Amino acid sequence: MENKNKLSRRHFLKAGAAAGALSGSAFPLQAAIAADTAAPDNTAALPFSIRKLLNEATLPKAKGARVVVVGGGWSGLTMAKYLKIHNPAFDVVLIDKRPEFISFPASNSWLADQINLDFLTHSYFDAARAHDYHFLNTTVLGFDRESKKVFTSSGFINYDYMVLAPGIEYDYSRIGVDDPESQMRLYNDYPGGFVNSSEVISIKRKLHTFKGGTFILNVPNGEYRCTAAPYERACMAAAIFRKRRIKAKILLLDMNAEIRIKKQGFEKAFSSLYSDYISYLPSAEISSIDIDNKTISTDFDDYQFDDAIIYPPVRASSLLEDAGIANLKNSQKVANTDPYKYHVIGDEHVYVTGDSRSQPFSKGGHTAHSEAQYVAEVIAAHALGKEVRWRSPQTMCFSAVDINPLKAMSIITFYKFNKLNKEFEFDRTHMMDDWNIEGGQASLAWAEGMYRDMFYK
Ligand SMILES: Cc1cc2nc3c(=O)[nH]c(=O)nc-3n(C[C@H](O)[C@H](O)[C@H](O)COP(=O)(O)OP(=O)(O)OC[C@H]3O[C@@H](n4cnc5c(N)ncnc54)[C@H](O)[C@@H]3O)c2cc1C
Repeated sequence: MENKNKLSRRHFLKAGAAAGALSGSAFPLQAAIAADTAAPDNTAALPFSIRKLLNEATLPKAKGARVVVVGGGWSGLTMAKYLKIHNPAFDVVLIDKRPEFISFPASNSWLADQINLDFLTHSYFDAARAHDYHFLNTTVLGFDRESKKVFTSSGFINYDYMVLAPGIEYDYSRIGVDDPESQMRLYNDYPGGFVNSSEVISIKRKLHTFKGGTFILNVPNGEYRCTAAPYERACMAAAIFRKRRIKAKILLLDMNAEIRIKKQGFEKAFSSLYSDYISYLPSAEISSIDIDNKTISTDFDDYQFDDAIIYPPVRASSLLEDAGIANLKNSQKVANTDPYKYHVIGDEHVYVTGDSRSQPFSKGGHTAHSEAQYVAEVIAAHALGKEVRWRSPQTMCFSAVDINPLKAMSIITFYKFNKLNKEFEFDRTHMMDDWNIEGGQASLAWAEGMYRDMFYK
């Protein structure tokens, strides 16, 4: 019988191959593999940080079936809490590489100084303590689904169930930037602000120190994260420039034919509040970017900029590729999962949720939160040999439009499956695109309620 706590060379080679795709983590694993090949029984000479990868991660001994949740965003945090609610016997381990949680929802209001950073920032330790699960601050490097192992930079973890909720990555190739060095430059100099909270901090500095001229923002196409947020961000950027009384023009290049959501509300904001600042250009499909000359090219024209926030189209996290479940033919590189039960087809012990999911639900924190409550119930039922009836996730999304006082609008929707075209579509949608002060207050009350649910008792 296999000793589950000892890593065999076969496991190690598998994990190394998986982690090879991750630039930061590839070297230590490959070096360890090379050493392992040369001297299979002697790893003592390896540096401690590399030997650590060969050992089981330090965690309290599992008392029940272990569920490892990869990614502590809106999906993973909710999942960890509700797994324990639906099956208190589960031993739940939440993994995130970030030391603390900084919320994207409401962050556009923070850009414009309507809230402070404390409002958005929360501790994983508070969440784990309040909801009785383990939090491990580490990076996931790869998987061996055969032996049910997750490899992390703190060692490997055995799982009975695994939930993958690692979010999204940018896909610069879809705006004509293929070379990795240019992608890196673009990411560092003009971060999109949709993947990593450091990007948002950098964007705030840009907006508050911009000296004037042309500032480009864009809206990606495809299923990008938070449909309304790029339009909302343009409003907040314009509000900041207006308050700072600088001579600046925001060029909002929309890669879509028209405003994708809350159209009337954003159109009204652009024309009635920010006509001096925002120029909205639909169908502006970005085809290439000349970083040295600060020029963005679309099929129709070239646009010069003084500064920019460049939000490329997105794809599911490459961890799905490392797990061997991504469909590489799909532009979003999503996994082949059951659309109602979320498990990987052929593996009912691995689930994909949140913005990495395959279903085309709106990539939103509220969607991820309501969905994770349901999927936690599905997993708890599966462990008991039972099933639960499908219920739609709910999307609720506020968009700040004006500041001092904060004014916002919102949308709430569910989803249903259209049997004719075999696609999910909006169901029971309630649009409140007449932005006002009450909407602004509701946007912050909503965010506070969500943080309370995920982090506190
Ligand atoms: C500016 C902005 C405004 C938004 N506004 C709203 C809004 O008003 N309402 C709304 O509902 N939604 C909003 N969203 C969308 C919302 O933030 C996302 O939909 C939500 O975060 C998705 O949750 P998730 O858990 O799938 O992914 P994430 O929240 O991105 O979490 C994924 C986690 O996985 C971790 N991870 C990834 N790879 C690894 C690894 N290898 N090892 C360890 N950890 C890893 C990451 O560190 C991250 O914490 C907004 C987003 C942005 C950017």
